[in-house]
Amino acid sequence: MSTKNEQLFLQAKKHIPGGVNSPVRAFAGVGGTPVFIHKASGSKIYDTEDNAYIDYVGSWGPMILGHAHPKVIEAVKQAADDGLSFGAPTPFETTIADKICEIVPSVELVRMTNSGTEATMSAIRLARGYTGRDKIVKFEGCYHGHSDSLLVKAGSGMLDIGEPTSKGVPADFAKHTITLPYNNPDAIKECFAKWGNEIACVIVEPIAGNMNMVIPTQEFHDTLRQQCSEHGAVLIFDEVMTGFRVGLGGAQAHFGIEPDLTCFGKIIGAGLPVGAFGGKREIMQCIAPTGGVYQAGTLSGNPLAMRAGIAMFEDLTVDGFYDELASKVDYLIDGIQAAADKHGIHLRSNKLGGMMGFFFVKDGDTATPQNFDEVSDCDIDAFNTFFHGMLERGIYLAPSAYEAAFMSSKHSQADLDATIKAADAVFAQMAQ
Ligand code: PLP
Repeated sequence: MSTKNEQLFLQAKKHIPGGVNSPVRAFAGVGGTPVFIHKASGSKIYDTEDNAYIDYVGSWGPMILGHAHPKVIEAVKQAADDGLSFGAPTPFETTIADKICEIVPSVELVRMTNSGTEATMSAIRLARGYTGRDKIVKFEGCYHGHSDSLLVKAGSGMLDIGEPTSKGVPADFAKHTITLPYNNPDAIKECFAKWGNEIACVIVEPIAGNMNMVIPTQEFHDTLRQQCSEHGAVLIFDEVMTGFRVGLGGAQAHFGIEPDLTCFGKIIGAGLPVGAFGGKREIMQCIAPTGGVYQAGTLSGNPLAMRAGIAMFEDLTVDGFYDELASKVDYLIDGIQAAADKHGIHLRSNKLGGMMGFFFVKDGDTATPQNFDEVSDCDIDAFNTFFHGMLERGIYLAPSAYEAAFMSSKHSQADLDATIKAADAVFAQMAQ
């Protein structure tokens, strides 16, 4: 007899490609059937049979205040009462823009979009328009959404032009994208030595959250900043995942680096569909209507998302908010690590602010992964066993060994202890 989730997945596949509206949700990486969610509250999400799961996905980051936070929901309800969308300016857009520029000093002007993909795609067009150059540089293991220029991997040699990673991406687009190994300052220097005066921009996840969680070295960031400045290339930090998440000022505050442009994502709208890109006035003024780089969006800056974001930022800016989040992450990681050690499981982890990542390395001597090759070298089967063991015990992790985990302010001590207890039980089974 099939389970409820299996039935729902079958029904979904009838009219939705693969049964999902974004591929990772299909559980292809971990196997099995996705859990269909029908509601969420605080630290928990509930499936259609009302089984509760302690959620460490948080809609892939934005639910930093927990699900259905009363203040955010109230703001959205009030916004809905006032009308869903006007296609005209609202004061709420100005409030959010002011807030972002106040919190992130590298951002002097900011434009709203409806997704992270739109934000990165627009930032790249802007960098190309501003510099009058075509080539862009990205890094292996970083994900920046699904626009054509970014669905590209390295060619056969490290400094060769890129090859599409998706059908439908013209090779003519991919040839302008150079993909370098992450966290490798020498590769950046070699790349600029070869292509320096042709590079429009470098786009980077300043802390990678799409190859699990990898925190690069300060030297990597210092080199990037120095090389971009020296060669007149725009440095774009993609903080769609790390923005307002690893700390109030994002990864750029952590590393003390001022990027030229920054992309933000769904957290700005507390989980409603939003993205944004912003940065130096001189560059941002090049977009329409002040400049010749075209960028637009009928629903951009929509009042529901803006008012949800305004409500959320009130809590994020309270003193100590991120310290509390980080101490929950510390407690959880320490507890899970102790359980892994007890059972002889080779676990490594990374963490900063409200974000964390776990790696199952193959050998007890292996260090925490530093780049995509090392992440790929981890024991993916062990992660998948861990994932399903946790899910059976009511803990919802991202369904892929290549994703990070997220803490919310609503995760309670009981949630953290239940998670550690579940991990202990799963590790005990894995060790047998
Ligand atoms: N950039 C990063 C770092 C992301 O993690 C993502 C999505 O997860 C994106 C861009 C694309 O954002 P969206 O899915 O909202 O288009």
